[in-house]
Amino acid sequence: MTAADRLAAVNARMAAASKAASRTAIDTRLIAVTKTFDAPEIAPLIAAGHRHFGENRVQEAEAKWPALRAQTPDLTLHLIGQLQSNKADPAVALFDVIHSVDRPSLVTALAKAMARQQKSLPVLLQVNIGDEPQKGGCSIAETPALLAAARAAGLDVVGLMAVPPAELEPAPFFALLAKMTKDLALPEISMGMSGDFETAIQLGSTMVRIGSALFGTRPPLAQG
Ligand SMILES: *Cc1c(COP(=O)(O)O)cnc(C)c1O
Repeated sequence: MTAADRLAAVNARMAAASKAASRTAIDTRLIAVTKTFDAPEIAPLIAAGHRHFGENRVQEAEAKWPALRAQTPDLTLHLIGQLQSNKADPAVALFDVIHSVDRPSLVTALAKAMARQQKSLPVLLQVNIGDEPQKGGCSIAETPALLAAARAAGLDVVGLMAVPPAELEPAPFFALLAKMTKDLALPEISMGMSGDFETAIQLGSTMVRIGSALFGTRPPLAQG
């Protein structure tokens, strides 16, 4: 199968999941996660008309996306991985949406970077939905306060994002994130990856982040 075939297959599975949940396919945006993959793997998706892409590291994204974007200016680039405050400036310069805002110090750093660059990027708050010590994300209890702090700093918060614990059934975590998003009256829910995106769509995801189902498996060290 070519990359374009895999893109069509994922889009068809998304449409079927949306239909089963009585939603329309366009309710959920597909973010093609390109970490560890380079221009030769990415270009066929752009050629097939895909425009939303996700990366989890600023430095890796800086190495490949400026050239791809020079050829296709209407790409939307999503930062989906943990962000260090000292990388806020390059992140704001390169990305269009940031899914991983998870602490007050990062809110401050991003607000400063956006002010300096006169940009206002939509952001999502990442929630540590499974309360896992090794994982990024704000605790469930602290999320309303982080939302208030982000808004007070002038950030345009559009939704919540989470990655459920790898070894557990994801549905209860997706349902919880959807409920939190609804309670906070936010429009976007970023949840669902290659192994569980149909369940995520069923439970209300508006953005699925899919890598291996489009590009094949990654080297183990780069899974995070
Ligand atoms: C890598 C990654 C994905 C995509 O994972 P796949 O299982 O390859 O679809 C989604 N979200 C985040 C935050 C990631 O780091």
